[in-house]
Amino acid sequence: MAERYSVHEAIVLDLTSVGEYDAYLDLFTRTGRMHARAPGLNRPTSRLKGILQPLNWVSVHVYRRGRQYTVVGAELRDALRHLKERLEGVAAAHYLAELVGRLDLSGELFDWALEALRRFDEEGVDAPHFLGAKRALLARLGWDPGGKTCPLCGRRIVGEAKVEESLGAFVHPECRPGGVRVSGRARAFLAGEEEEAPWGEVWAVLRQLFVLHLGEEPKAERFARSVLLRGVGGEPAAR
Ligand SMILES: [Zn+2]
Repeated sequence: MAERYSVHEAIVLDLTSVGEYDAYLDLFTRTGRMHARAPGLNRPTSRLKGILQPLNWVSVHVYRRGRQYTVVGAELRDALRHLKERLEGVAAAHYLAELVGRLDLSGELFDWALEALRRFDEEGVDAPHFLGAKRALLARLGWDPGGKTCPLCGRRIVGEAKVEESLGAFVHPECRPGGVRVSGRARAFLAGEEEEAPWGEVWAVLRQLFVLHLGEEPKAERFARSVLLRGVGGEPAAR
């Protein structure tokens, strides 16, 4: 049976208490998701307790036996304190952590996720920052609907579009009846052509695209929307 020690840079996505003192960690690393048991983490004397908290950036030392990982040490890289001081930061970071967990993102996206969280920490986070990060994630997952041409007719899309769910793409409104209309400004932001947009509408379109791929709405959706859309046009209209 393979037994070995290794060190991984990780973002702590979640922590679950097990038994009286142990915990189970859900980590995102450069090699993907890692679930590891942390014996004694909940003891009052544990030195690692403050380090291995959700949404901390850490280096974690693990011992692997078979398929089981056990935490034997950890160092804090950054607790992202500024982010956690504000409700907007907490809402955005939890949403991102849920997407990372639910999409079971490959480790290739570790640097992207870490950079997004560190930017939220350093610059603060608001609807434009958060929606920019979601737009970038969509593109990295290959779900970007923002092609410059309509797949139904092959002509260029300028201005308004519709989301064609079966293609995961923007199409001309006249090429497909029904569907959800997207204004020219919202489409331009999602295509990376503009940095300003009607944020409530962009929020609604991105929500729809993620629901399409996840099969349901993320748990963090409503809270994040209520916190982050305040002050930039309020909640999007109900559909
Ligand atoms: Zn068309």
